[in-house]
Amino acid sequence: MLLFETISLYCLLANWNIPQANLNKIVLDMEIAVYPNPVLKTKAEPIEEIDSEICQIAEEMLDTLYDACGVGLAAPQVGLSIRLVVLDVTGEKTGERVFINPYIAEERGEILEEEGCLSFPDVMGKIIRSQYVKVIAYNLKGEKLEIEAEGLLSRAWQHEIDHLNGCLFIDKMTPASTIASKPKLKELELSYQNNKAGVS
Ligand SMILES: [Zn+2]
Repeated sequence: MLLFETISLYCLLANWNIPQANLNKIVLDMEIAVYPNPVLKTKAEPIEEIDSEICQIAEEMLDTLYDACGVGLAAPQVGLSIRLVVLDVTGEKTGERVFINPYIAEERGEILEEEGCLSFPDVMGKIIRSQYVKVIAYNLKGEKLEIEAEGLLSRAWQHEIDHLNGCLFIDKMTPASTIASKPKLKELELSYQNNKAGVS
């Protein structure tokens, strides 16, 4: 990743108008899309080729994830409708943390737990999720991965793959959590409208 970081730094310092201009824009602009940003409801496209731009996006997403103290982040949450997820439930910054085109191949059991989402500041809600999932995905080298998950990791996987399908955790909350979260969602809607209108 050092090469990409170096390229980005050159772009930032020299403001070069080079083909990496779009990539540079991503580096500068990556921030977490907050509800009700419509990108969150858009189904993301599969990644056809793992190129330098995808590697750069993954790197930036990991930085964004750690800055936000989250456990997982899906590309639509940074405004990119592609099937890319970064995940690190331990926060140890080791092992496979970037996943391309992930999908759930198997799931079983049910468990009710509370969860939150980086795109919904201060909103929490209880959701029934599968207790166990088997996820198939690819790493940045294009190697196929088979991940078996339970507990927090299983919940995080289901949450992030939902994001790739434009499905949000508020769509799956229990009726009681749905009612409890309504005032905060209204606040977020108002804040989003005001930001769009340029009101501070
Ligand atoms: Zn989320």
